[in-house]
Amino acid sequence: MADLLALSERFIDNDIYEGAGLINRPTTELSELGNGIAMVEAFSHVVVFKTGDGLVLFDTSLEAFGGGVLKSLRGWTDEPVSHICYTHGHADHVGGTGAFLCEACEKEARRPRIVAHENVSPRFRRYEQTNGYNYIINARQFAPASELRMGDGSATPGARRFGPDPWVEPDTTFRDRLEIRSGDTRFELHHAIGETDDHLWAWVPEHKAICSGDFITWVFPNAGNPQKVQRYPLEWARALREMAAREPELLLPAHGLPIAGKARIAGVLDAIATVLEMLVEQTLAMMNEGARLDEIVHAVKLPTELMNKPYLRPVYDEPEFVIHNIWRLYGGWYDGNPAHLKPAPDAVLAAEMARLAGGADKLATRASEVAQAGDLRLACHLAEMAVQADPENIVAHGVRAEVFGARRQAEASLMAKGIYGFAERQSLQILGQHNQN
Ligand SMILES: [Zn+2]
Repeated sequence: MADLLALSERFIDNDIYEGAGLINRPTTELSELGNGIAMVEAFSHVVVFKTGDGLVLFDTSLEAFGGGVLKSLRGWTDEPVSHICYTHGHADHVGGTGAFLCEACEKEARRPRIVAHENVSPRFRRYEQTNGYNYIINARQFAPASELRMGDGSATPGARRFGPDPWVEPDTTFRDRLEIRSGDTRFELHHAIGETDDHLWAWVPEHKAICSGDFITWVFPNAGNPQKVQRYPLEWARALREMAAREPELLLPAHGLPIAGKARIAGVLDAIATVLEMLVEQTLAMMNEGARLDEIVHAVKLPTELMNKPYLRPVYDEPEFVIHNIWRLYGGWYDGNPAHLKPAPDAVLAAEMARLAGGADKLATRASEVAQAGDLRLACHLAEMAVQADPENIVAHGVRAEVFGARRQAEASLMAKGIYGFAERQSLQILGQHNQN
């Protein structure tokens, strides 16, 4: 059993970061946190409370982790599960539910009551409508950056499934607030929006504990995700401040490490709320001055001392992406560049630029030079344009694979790495096919 609280204390108090591997460990190992509370570390964690009248669980992790989580749980206690609270409806938080229902069924025990916000079921329906899209973008987002497997780009919509089968619906839903009791323990469930519109966080007064779901994840808040629906940074910050107002002494997040200690938790909640508030404030100030999205994206910056916190590293999402989401939330999709309102097809513009430059090869060569000089942002434009102008051009694909490969390595966030790695693999695949012929 790992001493997760000692680990988080060491990282936070000394402001040190020793890599994501020590913070998010999908081991299905159970760690006791005292007073009948445990955390099973998994793709998303499962937080467990013994209440004297059954176990109350927060989340069930990803479908593939459900069985492992249950096994670890049963190494700790035989008590039946009385409640499963979904912190929100993401697949990695609800997917393992089937394993717990099966267990109850096999043991002829009472079926756990599943509690969630009322927007969870509409989310499940949206996932069924957009299964193909979500399958593809998740494969892209989570593709192992170090592994260049050919063919990853060819996910066939409908052929593969995103999420558990079936999504297990909640039995009890609420809109703003719900109190549940199990044995001697009260759980105050509060709805707030942030990463999602169906989120809850829980205050457990008997333990002075907060179950924060994805409001705390030990990475820069996932409030910008380029391939997913709207997120709510300011409301996210507000939820964190509401949690802080309870003066919690134990913080139980769905990803990363649990945290003990009133002052320590207050500091973490404040820092995360602050970065989100700063991004919204600065972005809105520029929007209100009439700036274009492009100007805002390249102007707004967060203080290094906050970005260096071990729980704010941009290794998953990143501030630049959050700015896009703020723009979309408070504005529209038009970015302020009139050429982008009703643009020519990408391939037409690229062909024209290639004609001006003297061919797609010229664009590719220049992409390579610019990349070598260190401007990967610009190099990506030129490399992409080269293959758009001439999709059969093997030289251009070679440069595109190199440029996006370099970009993948240079970026910090999994989301950027995933998208650049996908482009790299597309071109490598074309090169591979060409070499076979
Ligand atoms: Zn999550």
